[in-house]
Amino acid sequence: MAIDTGRTTGADIEAGEIDLPWLPELADATDLRIPGPTPLPPAVLKAMQAPMVQHRAPSMMAFYDETLRLAREMHRTSGEVYIWAGTGSAGWEIPIINLLEPGDPVLAMVNGDFGDRFAKAGQALRLDVRRVDVPWGQAVTGDDLRTALAAHADVKAVFLTHNETSTGVTNRVPELTKIAHDAGAMVFLDSVSGIGAIPLDMDASGVDVVLSGSQKAWMCPPGLVIVGFSPSALERAETLVDKGYPRFFYDLNLSRIAAREGTTATTMPLTLMYAFRAALDLLAAEGLDAAWERHARIAAITRERLSALGLELFADPAYASDSVTTFRTPEGYTAGEFRDAVREHSGIEIAVGQGPLRDTINRVGHLGWVHESEMLRMIDAIGETIGR
Ligand SMILES: *Cc1c(COP(=O)(O)O)cnc(C)c1O
Repeated sequence: MAIDTGRTTGADIEAGEIDLPWLPELADATDLRIPGPTPLPPAVLKAMQAPMVQHRAPSMMAFYDETLRLAREMHRTSGEVYIWAGTGSAGWEIPIINLLEPGDPVLAMVNGDFGDRFAKAGQALRLDVRRVDVPWGQAVTGDDLRTALAAHADVKAVFLTHNETSTGVTNRVPELTKIAHDAGAMVFLDSVSGIGAIPLDMDASGVDVVLSGSQKAWMCPPGLVIVGFSPSALERAETLVDKGYPRFFYDLNLSRIAAREGTTATTMPLTLMYAFRAALDLLAAEGLDAAWERHARIAAITRERLSALGLELFADPAYASDSVTTFRTPEGYTAGEFRDAVREHSGIEIAVGQGPLRDTINRVGHLGWVHESEMLRMIDAIGETIGR
């Protein structure tokens, strides 16, 4: 479409007049039952149509202030939450470069592919990473952590995955955080597929840092990394201002200084911030506890119905995740073949395993803007695919 130079704002162009030739192709695989990106609620889609504004205008400052307040509320923290352009993976780097120094010893508790990547982020950033591997499908237990801390009493932080998206296992954060704190170590929690879906209370658990990405239970497009810092993490960061790691874009101190003036250190990713705000409003209206209950209820139905189809669930049942369910791929298929068969039969998109489980398990996501009826439709589609 040629640009009509007679128009100045574009606001008077009907969306229906606009032809994006690549759009119908993409529309094929948008019935997403994968653990991210997750479907976008209408309010989030609408928010993303909002026009650009001068990002340091007073109205934008009020918007930013309230968005941060809501984000703190959803983290249940009396600390601070900051939001940067980036994806969940940037969230591993942010606490490392702001709260640690190169060479610091840390303990990485690995029970799946994301824990593995968190450990590797630490290695790439030249930390002294002591790594503990727990069998995939199992949770990190209090005993695992106590034993590791006894052997590595000098570690400054423990890297922990709240919800291991690759295996569908949820680790017990309050218990593990207490053990880490008793040993004098901070806890950096990857809650990319946890927060917003699975109970997490930063203040009550004492966890020092919670990192997440916008495209999972936050029901937004990918592109924002959200990081909550406890009051004690903030105090520690103060001691490292102008010290420790070289850093610039993800320098917490720069974001804190800017936030005190109601703004961000660099241009705010406006469209994604509008989306995030709309999602926070939805969560606040539903109530965080109610959202957790919705996820737990839908997850229980999903596990029960998939088992009833004769599928073997993969995760240790005592720690099965309420945001992602994993099951062994039915006989006669690789995980990729099964995913393709479900898509061909129903148009519904499910996921394959990761790393060594790539071919042997399938994963389904039920996080964010998810309802029982959609999961039941997906379960029917899986059942019909097996039965064919
Ligand atoms: C999705 C995910 C990530 C990575 O997020 P990206 O947005 O792909 O960088 C990290 N950790 C967990 C637990 C995840 O589920």
